[in-house]
Amino acid sequence: MLLKIIVLPGDGIGPEVAEQAVLVLHSVAEAFGHQLEVQNKLIGGAALTACNDPLPPDTIAACLASSAVLLGAVGSPAFDHNPSQLRPEAGLLRIRRELGAYANLRPAIFFSALEDCSPLRPEIVRGTNMMIVRELLGGAYFGQPRSIEGNPGSRVAVNTMRYGESEIERIARVAFDLAMKRRRKVLSVDKANVLECSRLWREVVTRVGKDYPEVKVAHQYVDSAAMLLVQRPTEFDVILTENMFGDILSDQAGGVVGSLGLLASASIGGPVGLYEPVHGSAPDIAGKGIANPLGAILSVAMMLRHSFHMEREAACVESAVSAALSQGARTSDLASKTHPSISTAEMGRKVLEAVRTAASASA
Ligand code: NAD
Repeated sequence: MLLKIIVLPGDGIGPEVAEQAVLVLHSVAEAFGHQLEVQNKLIGGAALTACNDPLPPDTIAACLASSAVLLGAVGSPAFDHNPSQLRPEAGLLRIRRELGAYANLRPAIFFSALEDCSPLRPEIVRGTNMMIVRELLGGAYFGQPRSIEGNPGSRVAVNTMRYGESEIERIARVAFDLAMKRRRKVLSVDKANVLECSRLWREVVTRVGKDYPEVKVAHQYVDSAAMLLVQRPTEFDVILTENMFGDILSDQAGGVVGSLGLLASASIGGPVGLYEPVHGSAPDIAGKGIANPLGAILSVAMMLRHSFHMEREAACVESAVSAALSQGARTSDLASKTHPSISTAEMGRKVLEAVRTAASASA
């Protein structure tokens, strides 16, 4: 099979982690006899620097013509004072919209080799395996109007949280369908005691849930869900939530399992899937070669599974990551006295070797 991939390395640690993910993708393709065609395009701060547009038309066209897109990360302090449409993050929001990627799947899985990395006690975190299903194209991140108006000292800022029934229904169906393949539990997270958007959300999710009688559905306010996430993380199966709540809870889930650098994501629903680690461009460690590439590498596994339906190949990448961690490989975010840190490239190499071993064992 020909895999035509567009890579958007982006900013900060984005290019560093994307490079390792692409190397792993090449080794999987080689091991399983697939042809791989990879092309890099600009997004975010890198695109702003090159052509003063965080998402050039050429990037959009290439992504739409590809079979899947891998993104590193966007964001750079150099553009912090730019107007919204000329910030790197505008490129990210727009590519999600251009690709129609309304469903953002963010698994948070605890690796047993990382018991010393979670801030939680092993008996609390052991067995954690949740899937956060975040609505990606609605809510306050996209709602209009949005503005900052007025004179300095008396300015007023406005954002609009907006959700239509059809937007809620389509993401709810993604969550229920996923739950059917997992432990058949959906927790819908909202703030229905305060927000109209959440009241509509709860009503629609309850209605959709009736089509899935085997799935146990529950509702929770986001503040109490945040507390439960650290108290009893193993109880979560599928978490269904809107854009901003999902953004926040998934970073928290990263902390629970040991590091944000471990978390992968798939943004699907449109004609072309977008795969990216959950973390941002991490300007504090960019350029040092110490970023954890596992979130990006596991995003490649999600790409193989969701865009190409290559379950064996996806499982091969996931077990290679697990094997590398079991052998003691740790980037600085996971390092401890007993496990000194290795570089981004060394971690990539460890996974690559494990991919080759796993692929030859399964051949
Ligand atoms: P961040 O995720 O970049 O970093 C948060 C913390 O986690 C930092 O201390 C960082 O060093 C650490 N970290 C993140 N990824 C890591 C990795 N792979 N390995 C080791 N450590 C890692 O979030 P932030 O600092 O709030 O934001 C920085 C920039 O990234 C901002 O411009 C923000 O807008 C952008 N951002 C982009 C995305 C995206 O591209 N999807 C997501 C979130 C934030």
